[in-house]
Amino acid sequence: MAEIRLDKIRHSYEDKPASDADFALKMVDLTWQDGGAYALLGPSGCGKSTLLNIISGLLTPTEGDVRFDGRSVTTLAPDERNIAQVFQFPVVYDTMTVYQNLAFPLRDRGIDRARVDELVKETAERLGLTDVLGRRAAGLTADDKQKISLARGLVRSDVNVIMFDEPLTVIDPHLKWQLRSQLKKLHQRYNFTMIYVTHDQTEALTFADQIVVMHEGEVVQVGTSESLFERPEHTFVGHFIGSPGMNLFPCSVEEEGVSIDGQRIALDAPPSPDQAPGTAELGVRPEYIRFDPDGIAVDVRGIADIGRYRIVDASLGRHPFKIFCPEGVEIPADGARVRFDPRHANVYVDGWRVEARAR
Ligand code: ATP
Repeated sequence: MAEIRLDKIRHSYEDKPASDADFALKMVDLTWQDGGAYALLGPSGCGKSTLLNIISGLLTPTEGDVRFDGRSVTTLAPDERNIAQVFQFPVVYDTMTVYQNLAFPLRDRGIDRARVDELVKETAERLGLTDVLGRRAAGLTADDKQKISLARGLVRSDVNVIMFDEPLTVIDPHLKWQLRSQLKKLHQRYNFTMIYVTHDQTEALTFADQIVVMHEGEVVQVGTSESLFERPEHTFVGHFIGSPGMNLFPCSVEEEGVSIDGQRIALDAPPSPDQAPGTAELGVRPEYIRFDPDGIAVDVRGIADIGRYRIVDASLGRHPFKIFCPEGVEIPADGARVRFDPRHANVYVDGWRVEARAR
């Protein structure tokens, strides 16, 4: 497998792109480590497929360089890049047996019969396909077919990266979990470089060690599920990860804290006012707000019980927000006051998190 470097990639589908708005990928500068399990996460239209097609060679980027283990592959065709791809719909030959499906990419490369047999059996074993090797692919279920697609990629020893493009779309919901944990186990055991494209945060968070979040043609954060939750670098990440997402309050940055509609909120390490020349917002997840008689005054507008938690709809001045309230905690009907956990309240300027400058 290989390290994949995307060196200052930009891509436009226009002939003569003039401004940033003409670029489907605005600027992506990213290294996918050899052996990493990555998810590429973002809503429809954010540029995931464009990025994937640039890695696989279906698209040549307008600007920048793609390198596998330091070697530029930007002008190489897809079949010269040794990439295995698993798509939404399984790519299998229905009239062939599972064995023949796996053997095909090897015979195509002129590998001798005995070695093909060895590799096919070994790969089938890894994926739990040994029992169905002799069966025609046509009669198999969608999840078995998706395993065959994956096996056809894994059977080759020269593969640089395995890319999954929303691979569980056609899989029964109760099998999704199973297949995803199987993928994770395969990764832990064999350390393939994997890129898993999805718009589903649960899929991304359960599969990947590192999640690459895209928004409007940009990578806004690369991190573990914990860092995306605890420290969103962009308001989009705060909103996209978590359910409900992070609350955002327009604010003004002052010494030692922020002010929301004239209510002062002290923070542990706020940026100084000169670091916040643009539009400032305070971001706090519903999990990090609690009722406290010494806190700031808010109005409680509604309560939704979701089992172990209640989600409280509240407002601070004109700004609606949500609070996660565990069972057993009393929700005041009148005169409610709340406290934001200062360690988990982040200041954002023009969408990006701003840290206190070292003083
Ligand atoms: P989805 O999850 O819906 O596939 P995505 O995140 O993969 O979305 P892309 O398909 O990469 O996003 O699209 C990124 C942007 O580029 C979108 O604005 C889209 O309309 C545009 N785009 C994609 N393919 C083309 C194309 N062939 N020609 C012109 N514009 C395109």
